[in-house]
Amino acid sequence: MTAVLPNRLVDQFELGLDAPICLTWELTYACNLSCVHCLSSSGRRDPRELSTEQCKAVIDELERMQIFYVNIGGGEPTVRGDFWDLVEYATAHHVGVKFSTNGVRITPAVAVKLAASDYVDVQISLDGATAEVNDAVRGEGSFAMAIRALENLSAAGFGDAKISVVATRHNIDQLDDFKALADGYGATLRITRLRPSGRGADVWEDLHPRAEQQRALYDWLVAHGEGVLTGDSFFHLAAYGAALPGLNLCGAGRVVCLIDPVGDVYACPFAIHEQFLAGNVLDDGGFAAVWRSSELFRELRAPSTGGACAKCGHFDACRGGCMAAKFFTGLPLDGPDPECVRGLGEPALAADRVVPKPGADHSRPIPLTVVTRPPKRACDSDPLTGRG
Ligand code: SF4
Ligand code: SF4
Repeated sequence: MTAVLPNRLVDQFELGLDAPICLTWELTYACNLSCVHCLSSSGRRDPRELSTEQCKAVIDELERMQIFYVNIGGGEPTVRGDFWDLVEYATAHHVGVKFSTNGVRITPAVAVKLAASDYVDVQISLDGATAEVNDAVRGEGSFAMAIRALENLSAAGFGDAKISVVATRHNIDQLDDFKALADGYGATLRITRLRPSGRGADVWEDLHPRAEQQRALYDWLVAHGEGVLTGDSFFHLAAYGAALPGLNLCGAGRVVCLIDPVGDVYACPFAIHEQFLAGNVLDDGGFAAVWRSSELFRELRAPSTGGACAKCGHFDACRGGCMAAKFFTGLPLDGPDPECVRGLGEPALAADRVVPKPGADHSRPIPLTVVTRPPKRACDSDPLTGRG
């Protein structure tokens, strides 16, 4: 009997694909910065991180699964001594690389090398269009470092770098400035949602855009969104009206997943918690077996009933929002998103709830200060100082 395939692409995605179309691989937990909202609580390297040979074996497997590109992140992936070797190995094995960096290693010489490859894309993280707003979240000097990297890429003729912005209540009014900055470097702007994952859990309530800012963000994306990348960040805002470009569903375990630095496979980069751990690439059968047969991923691919959102007139557009945002704010996974545009998240957040602890914390053993507003003085801007 011939299997009947769902017509809409989104329906096919909901049932899961043979291989992920959005695979993130965090190569290390080591990082030169200590961003207050780091989704993987990075800082120190984990001694169990995959070796060069183990990473190459994973790349071989991705090639066999015909995964044509991988999003590499961290931590700061370029601080791994074998990073460039792994990038070369991946591209030589038909796995294109898009890597996220704070720019620390994007020297003029590296930029020239990157510009010579057709299979490497670079994404520079920047959370403010000014040093004041950016450095309050990412640490002092991080704005200058990112801009230097963009300048080096541009001078080397690297085409179409990405500038990746996490939307916060301090940078929503800078959207036009971000766009101008990207245009100035011949780069593409990418805007993503702040999720309460990793260290982001500690700052989410103070940093996530307010309701009126969510609306402003939606309107801005409707007006300017063509050519701005958003991934699956804002489909919950589609409940305001028209759908936005991007992936309009939670792809966790269906088309999205994460391989972490020790080889653990999670349903999504924002869901680093044992509840969303599907297996490890070093297990028998490797990554392919985890992706295709883990119990967790089978469950996530089962048709969803919509739970408390099923009766909402916006459910088709919003689908109840982001699983990770609900989980790490202690809300039921089958209920409304904490940023539900109908305002249903707010009473749920005000009620009693148990907020789960994030997975392992790799922050450096220095008390991390949560900076929730732009600094007034330069000396206030280092997230590692003892300011309250
Ligand atoms: S849990 Fe949230 S971030 Fe993860 S895939 Fe789903 S919508 Fe995206
Ligand atoms: S109630 Fe649920 S489906 Fe409706 S807008 Fe809110 S989160 Fe979306």
